[in-house]
Parts: sequence; C-alpha cells; structure tokens
Amino acid sequence: MSEVKSTLDNELMQEAPVIVLDHVSKSYDADTDNCALSDISFNIKKGEFVFIVGPSGSGKSTMIRLIMDEVSPTAGKIYVAGKDLSKLKARQICKYRRSIGIVFQDFRLLPDRNVYENVAFAQEVVGAPKHRIPKEVSKMLTLVGLSHKFKAKPNEMSGGEQQRVALARALVNNPMILLADEPTGNLDPQNSWEIMNLLEEVNKRGTTVVVVTHNREIVDVMQKRVICVQDGKLVEDKKGGYDVE
Ligand code: ADP
Repeated sequence: MSEVKSTLDNELMQEAPVIVLDHVSKSYDADTDNCALSDISFNIKKGEFVFIVGPSGSGKSTMIRLIMDEVSPTAGKIYVAGKDLSKLKARQICKYRRSIGIVFQDFRLLPDRNVYENVAFAQEVVGAPKHRIPKEVSKMLTLVGLSHKFKAKPNEMSGGEQQRVALARALVNNPMILLADEPTGNLDPQNSWEIMNLLEEVNKRGTTVVVVTHNREIVDVMQKRVICVQDGKLVEDKKGGYDVE
C-alpha cells in the first residue's frame, strides 16, 4: 500500500508546477500605461526545459527578474515551488534567491578570485559545511570540464570557459531551478553549443532549466518547449522551434 502511495507521490511531484505565473503584469512606471509584461500566465513543471524567446525589449529579462523576486509584479501572482513570492519576508527572499541557480550573458565572475574560489564562494554564502566545499566544487568543475583550470583567474580564460565557471557556480548548491539569461549571448557557436549541451545534461539530472535566448539555431535544433513574448504579451507556448520574426 505504501509503495503504491509513494509511486503516486512521485508522479504527483513530477507533475507539480515548480514555477507558476498567474495573470502577471509588470509596469516599471506607475504613471504610464507602458507594461513590460501584461497578463502573463504559464506553468513550468519540475524537470522541464523551457526556452523564453522574443525580440529585444519584449519582457524576457523582466520575467527572470520577477521569478528571482528582484522586482514584484504590478498585478498577478508568482508561485515558485508552491511559495507565493509576494508573501516572502526580506530574509526569506535572500534565502529563496540563493536556492535558484542563475547565469547571465556577461558571466559575472569575481575578477580577483580564481576559478575554485569563484565556485566555492557560492557554497560559503549559503553556509555549507567547510569540509565539504572542496569536494562539491571539484565535482562541479569536473562536470563543466574545467577541473584542470581551478587556479586560473577569469581574465585568463576564454568567454566559453568563463561561462562554464559561472554554470558550475550556479549549480554547486544543487538548485531545483536553473535560470539562464542569454547564456550564449557573448559566445561563438562552438562554445554556445557546449554550454547548451551542459544545460541539457543538468536538466537530464533533474534540474528545471529556463533559458532566455535569441539564438534561433539552438532553439530550432533542441526542440524544447518555447514560450514566446512580444511587446510584453505571451504570444506562443509550444514545443518546437523559434517561430518568431
Ligand atoms: P528583454 O529582456 O526582452 O529585452 P526587458 O524585460 O529588459 O526585455 O524589458 C521590457 C521592457 O521594460 C522594455 O520596454 C524596457 O525598456 C522596460 N524596462 C526594463 N527594465 C526597466 C527598468 N528597470 N526601468 C524601466 N523600464 C524598464
């Protein structure tokens, strides 16, 4: 009986939405009608891989910032892992943000620290036990293929390598969700594919992955769920390629 229940629980967990946007609008300027996002609703399930695409200025980064609870919606609700983000107190918000992995187009590594220190720093801020940090960092650097470069500083590395360090840092605390805002925006095609292959690998290991991108080729080849925004509105949400002009 308990086996049946646990199978059911597992199935329900798989189906449970991990990110919910419920009629979300965001206006940065209360005095105008200009909406960065307007009445957006979608669910992302645990373990999904989702692209968010759309022209520049259509609201993609705003969506990421809303999910990170860096800005609040003007209307609507956002739930992540069942939590209503509008109900989080200041201390909980910090903890919540640290529970999500994020990578950006411009890598955002600490320039005066080496690769090892950059990744270890993410563990230090969450108060991970000191003796476990070297093992966790080394595991992540192996995953991204950079264990041999652990002493290098960011300015001694290529863009592709820096993004792989940023990815190791984003993953070292084992986040349930990984957000990537234009992760290949500064990379050549080969490095872009290496990063995307890593994101797919991370997703196969169970992390929910949400990628904002302009990279039409990658979206077309990967054939994942694609959420498309234009002028702050959700215009398409389906599996497939990059259909937007
Ligand atoms: P995208 O990521 O698709 O390029 P953004 O989410 O950055 O789009 O921007 C959506 C809209 O919101 C744009 O019109 C942009 O000018 C506006 N916007 C974004 N951030 C701010 C901000 N901090 N203050 C005022 N307007 C902003």
